[in-house]
Amino acid sequence: MKDSFGREIEYMRVSVTDRCSLRCRYCMPEGIKLTDRNEILSFEEIVRVCECAAKLGINTVRVTGGEPLARKNCPKLISMIKGISGIEKVTMTTNGVLLREHLDELVLAGIDGINISLDTLKAERYEYITGRDCLSRVTGAVEACLDTGISLKINSVIISGVNDDEIADLASLAKENPLDVRFIEMMPIGSGRDYPPLRGEDVRKRVEAEFGKGKKDISLHGKGPARYYRHDGFKGSIGYIDAVNNSFCSSCNRVRLTSDGKLKSCLCYDEGADLKEALRTEGMHDGESVTDLIREAVLSKPLMHCFDETEKITEKKRMVSIGG
Ligand code: SAM
Ligand code: SF4
Repeated sequence: MKDSFGREIEYMRVSVTDRCSLRCRYCMPEGIKLTDRNEILSFEEIVRVCECAAKLGINTVRVTGGEPLARKNCPKLISMIKGISGIEKVTMTTNGVLLREHLDELVLAGIDGINISLDTLKAERYEYITGRDCLSRVTGAVEACLDTGISLKINSVIISGVNDDEIADLASLAKENPLDVRFIEMMPIGSGRDYPPLRGEDVRKRVEAEFGKGKKDISLHGKGPARYYRHDGFKGSIGYIDAVNNSFCSSCNRVRLTSDGKLKSCLCYDEGADLKEALRTEGMHDGESVTDLIREAVLSKPLMHCFDETEKITEKKRMVSIGG
């Protein structure tokens, strides 16, 4: 369906847990309180929301978290969502730590694409950023994914003075392998506020300094906001998600379901529909109220975020609770 600004809303990110196997300092620092398990939507409730959303035109679902694979039987949820009429694609964003173990099940479930978050290729630095010594598990998962032929993207958040010296090394992953590398600007959400973003444009300049100017790649790379470039001799493309400095709100196509059942219409604002309440009350079985709430949330989607005026951001949740 279209929102009140005429944007076609067809993509839903679904956070299935606020638990995580890592403690990325900009997302889920040590010691934060977790949501009570009974507040987290069950698989059946998530599927119900996806069914209602599909009737309103959502055709692509990205399963995220927290860490989606930290939730038991996550591949089963993927196949449940894949079975919904109207849902054409189901993808996942993962930190990759548990991916190798679950890859066969995910392929069997029919997953359409996997994004792996990886900010550094240096083991010590990986531990500094994520709080855990898991780099080899993640690079192993990248290789295993490549072997399956599944559509694969690497997401890297670049932090000035922490990993900006690895921009070329990370970009090289797309030179050597048939995968896309996307550089994501740090967003001022949760602990992300403590790390001023390195502008996507500056990251692109550094990629170009190393690999020459890329050609704009307008082929379809999924339904995300990245701008892609192709460099000579590369097997994959480089994408830039300049959330803060190059707003893509005019073409925003998405809503976000948090693990505790809130449907968010914009990352920036603490607004949205409480679907859990509707799912767990009398509306649960006729679905009408859930569908109506989704429709209302889409229609109330704001025109644009306010990342450049941080005092106007009303979202207090951390990215780990929102799902990215
Ligand atoms: N745990 C999974 C993972 O790391 O891929 C999925 C959830 S994580 C919240 C999704 C994405 O959000 C990751 O690529 C992560 O790097 C990114 N992210 C987290 N906090 C962010 C922030 N403040 N600004 C930009 N991206 C952020
Ligand atoms: Fe966990 Fe992903 Fe957040 Fe890192 S970015 S703490 S892996 S949810």
